[in-house]
Amino acid sequence: MTASIHLKPGRDKSIKRHHPWVFSGAVARVSGTAEPGDTVQVINSDGQRLALAAYSPESQIRARIWQFNQGQQDNADSLAEDFFSQRIQAARQRRESLGIPQSCTGYRLVNSESDGLPGLIVDHYANYLVAQFLSCGPERWRAEIIQALRHNYPQHNIYERSDVSVRKKEGLPLRQGVLHGDEPDDCIVIEENGYRLGVDIKGGHKTGFYLDQREARQAIQKYVAGKTVLNCFAYSGGFSLSALMAGAAHVSNIDESLPALTIAENNLALNGLNTEQLDNIEADVFKHLRLLRDQGKQFDVIILDPPKFADNKAQLNSACRGYKDINLWALKLLKPGGILATFSCSGLVSPVLFQQTLANAAADAGREVRIIERLNQGADHPNSVFFPEGHYLKGLICQVE
Ligand code: SAH
Repeated sequence: MTASIHLKPGRDKSIKRHHPWVFSGAVARVSGTAEPGDTVQVINSDGQRLALAAYSPESQIRARIWQFNQGQQDNADSLAEDFFSQRIQAARQRRESLGIPQSCTGYRLVNSESDGLPGLIVDHYANYLVAQFLSCGPERWRAEIIQALRHNYPQHNIYERSDVSVRKKEGLPLRQGVLHGDEPDDCIVIEENGYRLGVDIKGGHKTGFYLDQREARQAIQKYVAGKTVLNCFAYSGGFSLSALMAGAAHVSNIDESLPALTIAENNLALNGLNTEQLDNIEADVFKHLRLLRDQGKQFDVIILDPPKFADNKAQLNSACRGYKDINLWALKLLKPGGILATFSCSGLVSPVLFQQTLANAAADAGREVRIIERLNQGADHPNSVFFPEGHYLKGLICQVE
């Protein structure tokens, strides 16, 4: 018999509104035996069955919902290859209907909770799919998910990048390797916004590339023709390539990762661009912005796309100090009339808080800063309205006097 999670009285509201997580504090008891990743019923204090969910005994998020009951007689056995295949196909159709795969070969195919598959990420890179199994549910159904991916993409190779620390919260080991097909080359070439980019899906960050910034990389093209650009936290230089393709005069990349900067340099040749237009600076951004100021350097356009500064609420204050610091020093380096494109991928930092932090930096720098565009994660990273936690990436493009 399927095991069940019984909720405390009054703790069923969010689930009735299709929020996909059951927190440990909402659970009164578990009946039956459930192993990590097993499918359990979620039952409220009136005995009403609300959902089928994946059980994560070691996580604060005790269960993630696969399927909300909508009157149909689904049961735990209904979760099988067909279920995953249908959800993957639906995710694919969402992107196809937006024209994403027609215009680029690197995009997120499955965005976890917001595509109805909590804990599963699948990114599409040319003829590779890169999967991350982030929690016990997808781990339990790993074989079925691989089969479902193969069914939907019979020509593609499949690679796993489950070497992410969130798996530790679930008691899962880190793992990576080929799931189907060939060992990937060190450089897989993808296309986006009309240019070509090398991606290292084996050794790169995340699944190899920051796909969530594709629309932002396109957005900055409007502001860079003939300009000097400083691209901070450049990774493999996606923003700098985009800027050079749009006619930027010169771009300086700063990043602490030499392998990423090497890809940035190689990307120029992939697109027939001149390496004289690019400087790669392997450095700490916090220190290097101060050095550039000491050297009296100025730029027309500055991009700040740092890593996540806050993993939990306790880190929120220091995250804001970090955002304020880099924005302050970037503002000091901008020419009058310059453009600042500033981002935060910390989900815990709300759009309002991020804007306040920028305002604090502007006040200290004594500069007028006007927001001309607000950006979010791209359309291949959709965000269910029932799952606000899924909105993490915020960007502000500003004109600075
Ligand atoms: N803008 C990139 C993504 C940036 S991800 C894109 O569009 O693809 C964040 C980057 O910041 C990573 O490449 C990481 O190596 C780098 N990084 C993190 N902390 C840093 C620091 N203190 N100084 C310099 N680079 C840093």
